[in-house]
This record gives sequence, C-alpha cells and structure tokens, in this order.
Amino acid sequence: MYADIAVCLPLARTFIYKLTTPVETGCRVVVPFRKRDVEGFVVGFRKEAPPDIEVHEIGGVLDAIPLLRPDIFNLCRWVADYYATPIGEVLKAALPPGISTKHVEGLPHSPPRRGGEDAPSAAKARQPCGCRASPPLRGGEFLLTPDQASALSTVTKASGFRPILLHGVTGSGKTEIYMQAVEHFLAAGKTSLILVPEIGLTPQLTDRFARRFPNQIAILHSSLTRRQRIDEWLRIYRGEVPIVIGTRSAVFAPLGNLALIVVDEEHETSYKQEEVPRYHARDTAVMRAKLAGAAVVLGSATPSMESFHNAASQKYEYVMLTTRVEGRPLPAVEIVNMREEYAAEGKQVVLSRRLLEAINARLDRGEQTMILLNRRGYATFLLCRRCGFTFQCNSCSVAMTYHRSIEKLLCHYCGLARRPPARCPECDSEYIHYVGEGTERLEAELKCRFPDARVGRIDRDAMRHMRDYERVLGGFRAGDIDILAGTQMIAKGHDFPRVTLVGVVGADAPLALPDFRAAERTFQLLTQVAGRSGRGGRPGEVVIQSYFPDHYTFQLAVTQRFEDFYARESRYRKAMFYPPFTALAGIMVTDRDRGRAADTAREIGEYLDSLRSNAMRILGPAPAPLERIKRMHRQQLLIKSSSRASLHHLLGRLRQYIEDRKFGSTRVFIDVDPVSLL
Ligand code: ADP
Ligand code: ZN
Ligand code: ZN
Repeated sequence: MYADIAVCLPLARTFIYKLTTPVETGCRVVVPFRKRDVEGFVVGFRKEAPPDIEVHEIGGVLDAIPLLRPDIFNLCRWVADYYATPIGEVLKAALPPGISTKHVEGLPHSPPRRGGEDAPSAAKARQPCGCRASPPLRGGEFLLTPDQASALSTVTKASGFRPILLHGVTGSGKTEIYMQAVEHFLAAGKTSLILVPEIGLTPQLTDRFARRFPNQIAILHSSLTRRQRIDEWLRIYRGEVPIVIGTRSAVFAPLGNLALIVVDEEHETSYKQEEVPRYHARDTAVMRAKLAGAAVVLGSATPSMESFHNAASQKYEYVMLTTRVEGRPLPAVEIVNMREEYAAEGKQVVLSRRLLEAINARLDRGEQTMILLNRRGYATFLLCRRCGFTFQCNSCSVAMTYHRSIEKLLCHYCGLARRPPARCPECDSEYIHYVGEGTERLEAELKCRFPDARVGRIDRDAMRHMRDYERVLGGFRAGDIDILAGTQMIAKGHDFPRVTLVGVVGADAPLALPDFRAAERTFQLLTQVAGRSGRGGRPGEVVIQSYFPDHYTFQLAVTQRFEDFYARESRYRKAMFYPPFTALAGIMVTDRDRGRAADTAREIGEYLDSLRSNAMRILGPAPAPLERIKRMHRQQLLIKSSSRASLHHLLGRLRQYIEDRKFGSTRVFIDVDPVSLL
C-alpha cells in the first residue's frame, strides 16, 4: 500500500510514500524529504506507485487516530484548493501548535472512529452535547423587538445550510440575536461557533456570552499560550463545550453537531490571513456551514461589498435591522472642511475650531469624547525643507514615523529604530520639518488645549499588553477619563453610554492609499466610529475633519446611506473589473535582488499571458506599492477574471509551473481574493 502525503512545506503537490503500518486519512506522519525528516498528513491512498519514481517509506506515524475530524479535513481540502495554497500548511493551521495524539488518547468522550465518512453523517454520529435546555428569559435576556424576533426566526426557522447577512446598525441588537440563536440550538443539543475579528477588541461580546452561558464556552485566540490553546481545543474535541468563540483559525474548531456559525463584524479585514495559508475565515466559515448543513450569520453594521453583493444576488438571505434598540437616534454627523480651516487659521491645525468647541461643551456637561486618528506616532515623517529629503527605512520603501516619547524614528513595517537627526544627512541643513500628525501628537495637542481634562490614548504603542488596554478602557468606562484618543482600536464594538461626541481627525488618509477598497474602508470606519456616539440616553454628535468634504464616501457616511454607497461603489467596481464583480488574485514575487524579482515576475507574466482566456485580464508585473519590505523587493501581478472557474484553473497551472521551474531564492506567493494590494 502507498499513501499520498501532504508535507507541511509550502508545496502544492503531494508525495507518494510506501506504508509500513496501516494509518487513516488525516493522520500525521514523519517522512524523509530532500534529506530531512518533515511532518506530513496522509491525504489519500493508492495500491500502486508510478513505476518511474523512487518511492521512500514513511518514517513514522505520529497520530494513531487522526486529530482532524473528517469534516474539518474536507474543509481543509477546500481551503487548499480554493486559495491555491499548500494543503499541508492548511492542515497544520487547523490544529493548535504542539498538539499530539498523546493529548487525546484514552479520552472518555473522544469522537467516534472516523473513516472516510463525509461531514454531515459524521456530525450526526456525534453525541449531542447533553447540555440541558434552559428556561426562557435567563439573566440579561431581553424580550426581542419585532425586528429582532423576525431576524432570529430567519436563523432558526429551518435546518440545513442557510447563509444570512444580518445588516444592523451598531446598537440594533445583533449580539442579542446571536445569543438567542445559540440558546435555541443549545436546547436542541447542537453546537455553535462564533467568530470575532480580534478577541481583545470585542471583550464585551465575549463577556456577555460568558455571563449568559457559564462554563459552556471555549475561547480560541492567538494570545493564549500553547498549553492553553491545546486545553481549549481539547475541551471542544471531547464535546465538553457546545459554544466556541474565537478568531480566524477557530473556523477549524473541532465542534461536532454544528448548527450555527456567526461571523461578527464580517467586513473586518483581519479575517483574511496575510501569510500562508492565505484563507479568508468568513468565506471559509460559509463553506464550513455548507459542509455541516448549518446556518451561518454574517453580522455587520457595514457589510463588505462582497457579502452585500451576495445578498443582492440572493445567494445569501438578507436581514436588516433598521432601528437602534429603544429607538435611540443615530448621531448627527457634521463634516468640517479643513481647507477653510487652513485659510482661517493661516496654518495647518490638528483640531478644528468646531471640534474644539464641541469638546469644550462635553467637558462642561461632564460628558465624554472619543477622537479617532488612524495613525500612530507623533509625526508621520520628517522632511528637509531645504532639499526635500525624507527619512526612509533602509529596508522598506516607507517613511519612518517619529515617536516623541522614545525620541526615535520607527519603521512601522520592520521595526527598525534610529535617532532623529538634528541636521539633514543630505544637505546638512537644520530645517527639518515634522509632517503629518499621529495619535501621540493628538494626545499632546489635547492635553495642551484642555489642561484640566483627563486625556487617555489607545494605540499599539501605548498598549504594550492587553492589560494596558483594559486599564484605559476601564478608566474610560468608569468616567476617570474625559477624552479618549486613539487609532481604529477605539472604533470597535465598545459601548460607552456617556460618549456623546466622536471626532475623526485625518479622515482623508485612507482614501489616498493605492487600494481599490479605500473608499469602502473609509466608509466602514466612519460608520463604525460614528456608531460609538450617543449609545446612552443622550443624543450623540460626530465631527469629521476632511480636506475633501465633498467626496461621496463622506457624504454617504454622514447620512448612513449604505445602499447608496453600495450602488455608487458598485458602479466603480464594475467599470474597473474589481470584486465583487470580478474574481481577483494577486501574485507577489519577492527577492532580495531587485533584478531577480523583476525577471521572475516578467517570466510569470509571460506564462500567464500564454494561458489567459478572454475572460481574463492580467495587470503587471509592476513594483508593489510598497516596493520593498524587510529588504525584500516586491513585484506584483494581478489577475482579474470574470470566471471564477477559469481563474482557478489558471492558478492550478501556475502553481505547477512555479514548482517545476524552481526559481531558487525568488519566492512567489498566490493570494486569492486579496484584501490588501500594498
Ligand atoms: P449590536 O450587537 O447590534 O451592536 P447589541 O446586541 O449590543 O447591539 O444591543 C445594543 C444594546 O441594546 C445592548 O446594551 C443590549 O443589551 C441592548 N438590547 C439588545 N436587545 C434588546 C432588547 N430587545 N430590549 C432591550 N435592550 C436590548
Ligand atoms: Zn536636506
Ligand atoms: Zn523597515
């Protein structure tokens, strides 16, 4: 007997080995590979090996029984295929690092033996979790509004695969619906999986679930220790918990008898893994629900263009919650034209007069303010006013950011730090100008303008640890902070009833990025942050500072006209052949040597051109917008295809070509449905 082995290396193909002992599909083995021992997964069997190749024996069997449930194994196959990414890497990502058979051997509740049966029957074969049904209206549970009740019934009304887009403004009660849906399925002995973009940024959701379902939740995220991750994973594997809350990779959690998947804040880009294997956890969740015959709810106040398109074309059911719970009004939004501000003040200012005045009013009334500026540091870059020299990182093609608290210039891509020079290294002038402001500068400005106010700041520099973050948020909630400044970390699902003013500084910056999703991101961020204002009894106000106040993104965000934004943005995406109307894949070619990167990219371009069908357009090769990161030169190609199947076919050929051609030190990465093209 022979087995096909997917080695845990970035390779598309599988390799044939001779079996010495019987194993099952999905078991991990060690195999000799290019003079090394590497880990791999058994993905298939064959009676004979092709005559023309030399076949080695499997070195050893790591798992007597497979750790991956067959349905998860099938999901991994789909991920590897759809994202043109190595199956070995996907299977590895689906398990907690460091897990081995010894953790699961002799477990009383270990799942039934799994051979080749397919997902739904495997799910049926599992024992129900045995948790007793709970009485209606438990602690913290509300009587649903009619909107909520009808949304809930859409989720729970039938069994089988049902993708649902739950579009509801912040505060419209989506989380409450998730919890009651979980409750419903729990009563039927079924399990639920809740995906969140980042655990730290959604502490309230996790807390609310934990209070509602004590001892019934496992939590999976990346800041757990290895041991904690394995322990949480084992609780799920043994069937001890019927609810899992987790980030991206929790989409592979070994829950059996799955009835519901929730993807909260489905538009968030952190659902896309930006390293191999490059999968999108939201879309993988939809596929998992399909394989398991479960409902999947994608929730957002600002759905992604992709999901909204799927709803518009009736691939997903669409449920809209139009009002906030208890009819709390949406905040009044106002845009300040910063060009007029500049004209009036004679210089660039961080805070407009309108915003200053609004903050003052809050301080007088004992209400709270949040100010968003989505850039860290003090100054965005240093510029010599005499010769125009800017301080760039040696290894990356980006300007270095000035951080005043540590008196350093930092590269936000590779972390390189250097002392800010007093004179220009090019022309020796002393006219060094600090351009563009970050959150550190914003905080300093607020402290200077409002010396009696208590100002807090949240960004990745100020928050070394999770507990710093919780301390500042706790202080804000307790009313010990009047003004909270920060990056988009403050825009996430927090509920602070005393916040009646939200300011957005530097709202234009993302629009300048060379990314076709720039307008979508800006619209989402503005809508999300505006949703932070006026969550309590008092009405909220939002002040956005912009140099382009007439841009449709601002105008439509102000009035929260999502459908108008979607229609407008759709026209642009259609005209430019971008998703969701076109299937997109990025090919990134990297090398330390600029010439080698360019040569390989050109060769790949020619290869793609030779195979391309009429349904496709190929852009590039061209240097990526960030031409160099960590000393690697980056060349990019984009494939746009009106047919997903042709794109898929082309990528299959390309992977084969790359592996056969062997580009040496040059690396080639395929990114299907990329979320960032930088
Ligand atoms: P979302 O997740 O859409 O932001 P939440 O579920 O957090 O909305 O609801 C917003 C607020 O309203 C929360 O404080 C929640 O406890 C409360 N809430 C939700 N549903 C109801 C309801 N049916 N009746 C009263 N309060 C509710
Ligand atoms: Zn100079
Ligand atoms: Zn750098």
